[in-house]
Amino acid sequence: MVVPVELQKLPKVDRVVDAPELSGVRGTLGKKAVTALARSVIAEARSAALAGAEPATLAEVVARVRERAEVRLRAGLAPVVNATGVILHTNLGRAPLPRASIERIAAIAGRYSTLELDLSTGVRTRRGLQAELGLAELTSAEDVVLVNNNAAAVMLALSTLAAGREVIVSRGELVEIGGGFRIPEVLARSGARLVEVGTTNRTRVDDYARAIGERTACLLRVHPSNFKITGFAERPALSELAALAKSRRLPLIKDLGGGLVVDLPPTVAGSELAREPSVQACLAAGADLVCFSLDKLFGGPQGGAVAGRAELVRALRDDPMARALRLDKLALAAVEAVLEAYRRGALCDIPVHALLSAGIDELERRVDQWRLALGELGVSAETVQSEAAIGGGTLAEAPVRSVALRIAGPAPEALAERLRNGEPAVIGRVVEGALLLDARSVFPGEDPQIVAALTRAFAK
Ligand SMILES: *Cc1c(COP(=O)(O)O)cnc(C)c1O
Repeated sequence: MVVPVELQKLPKVDRVVDAPELSGVRGTLGKKAVTALARSVIAEARSAALAGAEPATLAEVVARVRERAEVRLRAGLAPVVNATGVILHTNLGRAPLPRASIERIAAIAGRYSTLELDLSTGVRTRRGLQAELGLAELTSAEDVVLVNNNAAAVMLALSTLAAGREVIVSRGELVEIGGGFRIPEVLARSGARLVEVGTTNRTRVDDYARAIGERTACLLRVHPSNFKITGFAERPALSELAALAKSRRLPLIKDLGGGLVVDLPPTVAGSELAREPSVQACLAAGADLVCFSLDKLFGGPQGGAVAGRAELVRALRDDPMARALRLDKLALAAVEAVLEAYRRGALCDIPVHALLSAGIDELERRVDQWRLALGELGVSAETVQSEAAIGGGTLAEAPVRSVALRIAGPAPEALAERLRNGEPAVIGRVVEGALLLDARSVFPGEDPQIVAALTRAFAK
């Protein structure tokens, strides 16, 4: 094969990898990764040259490799300032942990711990026992089992109680929560057979009653989360469904999602959020098992819980699948500290609740300070009322009153990008041609970082 003379001018892989300008990234990313980047950049330069472009020089190829290496290096986990107004932002890590949880993790992580040892007897104990007891007390449940997330909680409940048998679900609740959690698919994977009842908009207790047969294992009720049916819609109260389940001696499983265990603050009163049921309320209404996330309104680490009747929870705990879904010890340490905050009634120590309960006046005062700092740079912006959200799949629709800085300008997307690429990254949202930085999801301690980020973004 004749190699066109132009292609012979392209730099060789070795020369690129060994370039002195790449010594830094060779050290951090490793020679193997830099070699792979060099190969792909040279391959692109070859295609471009074949298409008639000037062959890239060694310096150009090296510069491109370095740029990509730096992007790779930045691509790991890094803290960001969440100015989206969405408190449980799935892409930004959902619930930030209480300080006490972080300290507990730090104390446990690098050492041996009492994970499965009772110090008083010297005998092996069940992992998670204390946290499970604490959560049971908090939610007035007979017992609780902790797993890796709520998806695992639902999967475990269904596979333990219903594999090979039927689960009755309303057609209005066959939802996708996001991130690939689709009720019909989770059900299929658990080995249970889905029996759909009712219609998308209306399901009555009778629909469930008629579908119950010999093969029925349980009834499943799903919080529709970020999906809402309005208008000609009806579904039975949880307590009505519980009465039916009880009369037929079948368990009722509620996939609650949000994990609310306290009353919500007055900031959300009157909104849809105020109607969000708590774990306790679902149990009191007669649900036999309630599944929920620990990193949504509970305000803890990634995790899931199934709370409810003792013999059912025990069956779940003893299922071999539970071993594959168990909660990590660092998450357990974090949960223990969150439970202590609830026990003390110190909601302000749980970041999700602290953010939710910040008063409008306080948010307005803080946003005014951001605005004044911008004003000093000659940039005008407005303090505006906004609608923040809980997010996290659950309750995505329910607005929470908030205050935001509104920066109108010719290129709000470009400004958003500049703030996103700063350090720390500040994430806002672009609405109707303006960038909004919403204070509801920004911690007061992050205000200086917002001001510094704005200053950098507008500095000439
Ligand atoms: C969030 C949610 C899930 C998934 O929970 P993860 O903790 O993300 O696994 C399942 N069901 C409902 C109703 C939810 O809101």
